[in-house]
This record gives sequence, C-alpha cells and structure tokens, in this order.
Amino acid sequence: MIRQNLHCHTTFDDGADSPEAMVLAAERAGLRSIGISLHCPIPGEDDWCCAAEQEGAFLDTMRALHERFAGRIEVFCGLEYDLRADRRSVPPYDYIIGSCHFLADHAVDNTMAEAEALIAQFGSPDWAAEAYFGPLTALAGFDEISIVGHLDLLTKYNERRPLYDASSPLYRDAAFAAMERLNAAGKIFEINTGAISRGWRTTPYPAPELLRRLQEIGGRICICSDAHSADGIVCGFEAAEALARSCGFTEYQVFDGRGFRPEPF
Ligand SMILES: [Zn+2]
Ligand SMILES: [Zn+2]
Repeated sequence: MIRQNLHCHTTFDDGADSPEAMVLAAERAGLRSIGISLHCPIPGEDDWCCAAEQEGAFLDTMRALHERFAGRIEVFCGLEYDLRADRRSVPPYDYIIGSCHFLADHAVDNTMAEAEALIAQFGSPDWAAEAYFGPLTALAGFDEISIVGHLDLLTKYNERRPLYDASSPLYRDAAFAAMERLNAAGKIFEINTGAISRGWRTTPYPAPELLRRLQEIGGRICICSDAHSADGIVCGFEAAEALARSCGFTEYQVFDGRGFRPEPF
C-alpha cells in the first residue's frame, strides 16, 4: 500500500478544501505523511495559482499543521513550480515539484478544446509533443526541483479523444530524450492519478511505454494523486501501484523530511 502523497491542492490555489481538511483526509486514508503542493504564484494566473500575497499565509498554515499533527501524520509543505513562473528564488519549501502547464499560447490541461487548439497551433500532435518535451528538460537545471510533475500531461484527454499517440516514433523520441535528461539530473518522476478523480481518465499517467523505458534506464518514481479535493486524496493509488509493477518497478520514492528514499511496494 502506498503510504505517502506529495501532490495535492487546497483553497490556497485551485483546490476545493482547506489544508486541514486534506491532512485529515490523508490521515483517514491511512497515509503516514502528506505533502501539500501549492501552485506557484504566476502573475495574471491567480484564478488557479496562489496569489503572491497569500504565499506567506500558506507557509504559516503548513508550519502550524506540521506541529499540530506531529505524532499522527507527517505534514510537508511543497510547491508545484511551473516553468512559466520564472522565479529566481523560492521560499524554503520542503520539496518542489516541477511542472509545465503551458505551451505557446495555450494551457495544456485546461479544456479539451484548448488541447485541440494547441495541436492546431503546432500543425500535428507529434510536433506539439516535440515542442512540449523539449523545454520540459529545463527542469533538469533547477536543482531545488526533486519531482517531475505529470510528465505527459498532454495526454490528459486521450481516453475521451485520442489526441496523442505515445507509440509514434516522433512522440516517443521526444519523450524519451526528456526523460533521459531529467533522470540524469536525478529527478524523480511521479505517477499521477489526478485525471482519474476529475473524471477524464480511468488510468494514471505517464503512459506504460514511457514508464517501461524509465524503468530500463534506472529511473525513480513516486505516486501522487494531485487531488483537488479531500475525497480524492488517494484516488487511483491501487491502479498506480499496479501500473508501476507492470512496468517493472519494485519500489517507489518516499520523502522523509530531508530527502528521498526508496520503499518497496
Ligand atoms: Zn500540475
Ligand atoms: Zn497539481
């Protein structure tokens, strides 16, 4: 059983529930530790990111929850950094997830129509994928980032409408190249179940093709729900573990307050 979730959101960004409600849900679900990952402030994106002036209050809230729940469940304070944030320094978070939610003029995962517009802008799904996975490797140069968030977020809508083909050579080469660079930089890749709780998918991502390759090159994984409400705190964790095992993984990474260590399934 997976005993940690490091990726979820609260009313400080686009989540539905308070940090306290998320911690209580994690405790009820039997997790040993929970990390809340704030959407990094981005100018003009306050509808889904934390407003810059609220970041201090988030850090204070998380410190208080860490103290209050000591001995019951470990509470960590994380950040989901977006490449568009372009911040030179970040406050002292326990850990940072690095993600890419935008490509050219469009959000990658906002609506299906926008995902289609994104492909139209690049001329084909493969070219859009190349344009996505190339810049994603910039996360390799950001030492404070430990985890690569939802590596193939592009495929969020694939079960409803197959927009991308993860087995096409161009797509695969672009994704593999990004994975290899990020893995060489020591990044951990999350298996993300967030699209399951939001009803877009029945399976976690990354795609098995990518996870098998990641396993072959000695990559490390963690398992995260990217929950935006308390009822999704461990949504899809059994499916994520089954996916990881089917791709050859025997362990996942757990954050212990100082660093990451492997834990067997
Ligand atoms: Zn994200
Ligand atoms: Zn997230």
